[in-house]
Amino acid sequence: MVRVELKHVTRKYQAATEVSEEDAKRPALDDVNMVIEDGSIVSIVGPSGCGKSTLLKTIAGLEYADSGQILYNQVDVTQIEPGQRGVGMVFQDYALYPTMKGKGNLHYYFEVHQRTEAEMEQRTREIAQIMGVGFDLLIGQKTDTLSGGEQQRVAIGRCIVRDPYVFLMDEPISNLDAKLRERTRIEIKKMLRKFKVTTVYVTHDQQEAIFMGDRIAVMRKGKVEQYGTFDDLYFTPANLFVATFIGTPPMSVMPVVVAGGRLMIEQSGWTLPAEIAAALSGRSQVRLGMRAEGWNIDTPDGIPMEVRYIERIPTEQAAFAHGTLGGVSVTVIIPLDHPDVPTLRVIPKWDQAYFFDATAETALRTPGVPELF
Ligand code: ADP
Repeated sequence: MVRVELKHVTRKYQAATEVSEEDAKRPALDDVNMVIEDGSIVSIVGPSGCGKSTLLKTIAGLEYADSGQILYNQVDVTQIEPGQRGVGMVFQDYALYPTMKGKGNLHYYFEVHQRTEAEMEQRTREIAQIMGVGFDLLIGQKTDTLSGGEQQRVAIGRCIVRDPYVFLMDEPISNLDAKLRERTRIEIKKMLRKFKVTTVYVTHDQQEAIFMGDRIAVMRKGKVEQYGTFDDLYFTPANLFVATFIGTPPMSVMPVVVAGGRLMIEQSGWTLPAEIAAALSGRSQVRLGMRAEGWNIDTPDGIPMEVRYIERIPTEQAAFAHGTLGGVSVTVIIPLDHPDVPTLRVIPKWDQAYFFDATAETALRTPGVPELF
């Protein structure tokens, strides 16, 4: 079992000729600090090109940090070869040996390392047992006859058979269609729970990141913008980028004016609770961030929101009203049976309102993680 720690890790590639000047100057990893606790699953998420794969490869030793340190259980492995680090990796294209049966893929490692037949069989049986229903059948078939999801299960099995200290997965299921992706991610999570191997899971999909990770690192332009549990990111985002990246539908963000204890959107306004007015005192312009579930609707003191369309979601017993408020796109949850209306009077539930600086991305006030007990 391994606790992985990254200390001030920076990595800058030789600039490729086709990238913009800004991209060429920026390191792929920029002073990344992170502790991945023993046996935990950490998701790395962020837009394409933000440095996710580079981070994973640096943990594996396939890329070297220009500065900073990587520690496995307090031991500095920064200069250690990938083969010596005991990592298992699964990539987007599973790269199984296609002409071998699944079992051959699992055995290959033992053959290369000249282990005994008995050890190989024993370990494969153990893995098949843990991997669950049907795995035995899967590894009896040639891998090029397996579906994408099945191949990925074998690839993960092949990885686990080696008893890695650290398991690194880079977009392992993004090649699969939506339905299979959902099923496979549940299986992967179940497996990871059983094996309790420290895992870093890279994805560009925030929902997958939330589902897989005990903790989530949100990256942008080589930096970790915030690292925490889903609740930390959702209720106490460090900045506007994290706030709008995490959550579906995305948070609506409106420029507003603070004046005389009121929050004004164009000519209309809401009266602020004293506590929020005090927290914002000294500021005349801020940005208000609201999630779809954060509104009271149909209240007389609400500001009219123009409704463009209503998206009913029977499985959720709710509907989304999409529209505009003060010219800004806003989405609000309403009851499933709410009639179609051209406008809705809306007012924030103030304990679910987020405030950001008017120009910088800094969060000024966030709801905080709710107490459940
Ligand atoms: P992500 O996995 O988030 O899409 P990457 O880690 O692949 O991001 O890339 C981060 C940045 O580093 C990007 O700007 C990318 O163009 C650049 N990059 C990645 N690999 C190389 C490489 N081998 N040579 C030069 N630049 C690279």
